[in-house]
Amino acid sequence: MSKQHLFDRSEPEFLRIEGGVVTEHVHGVDDLKPRHDRQQGHGVEQEQPSPSQVAIICIQCGAGVIAGQHDNGYHCYACGGDYHLRNCPQCTRLVHIHGSLYGRKVQCLTCRRTSSWRRWERNSVRAGAVASQIALPQAEVADPDRRILGGVTIAAAGVPPLAPGIGCKLEFAARHILVYSLMTTGSYEVVQTVQYESVDFVQISGSGATTITTDAGLIGGGFGVKGAVEGILAASVINALTRRTTTTIEAIVYLKAGPSEVLLNTSTFTPAVLQVMLAPSFTRIEQARTGNNPASSFGGSP
Ligand SMILES: [Zn+2]
Ligand SMILES: [Zn+2]
Repeated sequence: MSKQHLFDRSEPEFLRIEGGVVTEHVHGVDDLKPRHDRQQGHGVEQEQPSPSQVAIICIQCGAGVIAGQHDNGYHCYACGGDYHLRNCPQCTRLVHIHGSLYGRKVQCLTCRRTSSWRRWERNSVRAGAVASQIALPQAEVADPDRRILGGVTIAAAGVPPLAPGIGCKLEFAARHILVYSLMTTGSYEVVQTVQYESVDFVQISGSGATTITTDAGLIGGGFGVKGAVEGILAASVINALTRRTTTTIEAIVYLKAGPSEVLLNTSTFTPAVLQVMLAPSFTRIEQARTGNNPASSFGGSP
């Protein structure tokens, strides 16, 4: 991996709240900055998978990703994330493991058990197998402008059963926004479909990244795979060797569409990064308002 990790951060708190339900995530570190140098969409012709390629969905941002059928990982150009595709050696659930965790012990958030990398490596999954599990046409899966935000509901109105504390996902799909609620069954279900033209606004706020640096030894336990994640500030290697940094991220997304309102606390990206990450979603809202056909839509129907 060529990109630099400026600093690491701990697992977002909401994932712990949701327990083993967010099966796709593992304790680990993610990139904070999306890479837009090679981003697709916005009038660019839709990329279609060739016969040896398949479309899957980035676990971090929801963008469509094209990968080789036999690849056991992928790179997302929308958010810069690199992921390894593995089945948990213990509970067999599919896990997208962040590239930075390669070679390390990794904990599965579904069964909470930790496995050595050697065991994860023996359970690699091909992108083709992942794609075959997605119940959508491949052309639709490939949408590079789709974004999916996950988090915990802070407040909600007109979107039952969403209520404070309930896991929520917002999917900014090609034709509409899907609001998902975490159900007692442990899976996310669509509880409302919001048309782009009915969106009053999507606001992003929040305190952003909070970094706490402590002298080495003061943070008890949980280093690396779980708990506090050690961060290295590139500025000073010496300091980095003697100090530990924990970064938590908070971003608030406020979606209002007529009587439906959702206030969501997410911790995947900082508010500033989220603002950029959601650019294609804002474009879709804007285009629905002005009546223009979305340049990056697909499937033919306006
Ligand atoms: Zn992504
Ligand atoms: Zn597991």
